[in-house]
Amino acid sequence: MIDPTICTFVPQTLPPADRAGAAYWFAFQDQKMIVRTARDSVEAPLLTDLAALGLVPLRWQYLGYLENGQTQPIHCYSAEIDPTVALADGLVAEGLRDLYAPLGDVLFNVAGRAVQIITWDRTHQYCGQCAAPTEALSQERARRCPACGLTSYPRISPAAIVAVVRRDEHGARILLARNHRFPPGRYSVLAGFVEPGESLEACAQREVFEEVGIRIKNVRYFGSQPWPFPNSLMLGFTAEYESGEIRLEESELADAQWFSVDNFPSLPPKMTIARKLIDWFVGRQ
Ligand SMILES: [Zn+2]
Repeated sequence: MIDPTICTFVPQTLPPADRAGAAYWFAFQDQKMIVRTARDSVEAPLLTDLAALGLVPLRWQYLGYLENGQTQPIHCYSAEIDPTVALADGLVAEGLRDLYAPLGDVLFNVAGRAVQIITWDRTHQYCGQCAAPTEALSQERARRCPACGLTSYPRISPAAIVAVVRRDEHGARILLARNHRFPPGRYSVLAGFVEPGESLEACAQREVFEEVGIRIKNVRYFGSQPWPFPNSLMLGFTAEYESGEIRLEESELADAQWFSVDNFPSLPPKMTIARKLIDWFVGRQ
């Protein structure tokens, strides 16, 4: 049996010819994933068919498989369940953010993929151009309109997230801000969506200037993280302070400050690229 914490996910669109053997079912009611609870543990359902849990999907999709190169791969499916359906004992629908620790990195990422594909599939049943019913293509993740030919692919919204570092007579400090929606006391690095026609570096520079009035330089790629809330890809950057003093965009931010490692506020969870950027800053001190 594959250990889901040390395997690789291989995306596919063509399902296997039969459903022999247990598969992971990433079933969602709205944005919540249906998981099994036993004693204190929470698990993704691993079974041949959702019918074993008394669930009938409104729609389902094949996602691909998990493999470790040694044992049989485990297939993965996503499924949309009517949100009004009551769940049997031992099942609960949980928000994805609360499932990172129980599922682990690999299954959490497949779950994030699942909820985005379910949402895209549900919202692209009809053509956006001529309103005819669309059809799923088998060779790629796409839906095509047989009447006008318009093809739709799952939408990913890229966002630049940037750690700005300032070095001066006060030492090294990082720019952290508080969004109005954050939990009390929480600060994080700045982020914003990429606009059509904009480079990632230009997005990072624009966002920081719009939100806090600071000019940045030496924007360098750091890493990326899929962020399925609802369909982002976070692209992380580091940058250096160039000029300006903090001037808040008050409709979005409650506060922004330069922080040194010895007076950090409450930070985002370890799993986030925001926190990895902040930890990168800490590691360089
Ligand atoms: Zn059409």
